[in-house]
Parts: sequence; structure tokens; C-alpha cells
Amino acid sequence: MNLLVHASAGVLVGQATGNPILAFICGILSHVILDMIPHGDSNMYKRYKNKELSMKKAMAGTMLDAIATVVFVILIFNLGIYHTKLVTSMALIGAIIPDVLIGLYELSLPNAPKFLRVIHKWHFKNHDLFAERRDFSFKNGLLLQIVFFLIFLVAL
Ligand SMILES: [Zn+2]
Repeated sequence: MNLLVHASAGVLVGQATGNPILAFICGILSHVILDMIPHGDSNMYKRYKNKELSMKKAMAGTMLDAIATVVFVILIFNLGIYHTKLVTSMALIGAIIPDVLIGLYELSLPNAPKFLRVIHKWHFKNHDLFAERRDFSFKNGLLLQIVFFLIFLVAL
């Protein structure tokens, strides 16, 4: 899912723990669970790797998602919608770190360290667990993610 959805879910579950270490762990778990839900992008990474999706489009989508996530985080901290800054920060880090590691894997190719290769393989196995059989269209997957984000936002 998009980083914005992962960040909002991470803040929500992390804050419920009230503990920075548990918030970090719950942030990671929320990422794993959300990625398992088909959300219309199971073919995107494969298309990117097969050079069917242009680097420019992939970067533009990633940049928009990253900017939206930064704006979300700025609003969370400036509007005071957090348990403690440490708990919320740890939840955010846990929620987005799996995708950060995927980015590090891509940057370190072709000599990616073994731990990044293992994480990459596991991440996409989890990500495509159900989506490989049946996934939404990209447009419907995006709508689903917007609904998830709004639910998490209201719950905060
Ligand atoms: Zn992910």
C-alpha cells in the first residue's frame, strides 16, 4: 500500500499501545497486514522491474506518496494528534520501514546485502499472497486505499 496509508495505520495502532517499542512492532505488523490485502498494485512492481513502467512514472508516484506522507506527519505533530512524540515516531518508523528497506534494496542492486535480499523476497511474497490470485484494478485499489486512509484518520 501507499506509505500514507501505512503511516496513518501505524500511528493509529502505535498510539493504542502507548509504548515506543510496542508501537514500533505494531507499526511493522500493521504494514505486513495491510500489504496482504489486495490493493491494485500487485503488477506495478513487476512492470517496473520488466521496464514496462517508466522510471519517470514510478518516481513520480513514489514522490507524490512520500510528499503526502510528510504532510500527514507534519499535521499529526502540529495538530497535537499523538500519544507522545516518541511513541508516535516509533510507530511511524515501524509502519514505513519495510518499504524503506525495499528502497535500500533497489539502490544497492546488483550487490544487495543478503539481509536486504531476504527482506525483499519475503516482502513481496507477503504483498502478493492474495493479490496474485485476484487483485483490484489500479483505480479501484487506489479508491480502497483512500477509504482505508479516511477510516484511520477518523479513528485518530
Ligand atoms: Zn510494503
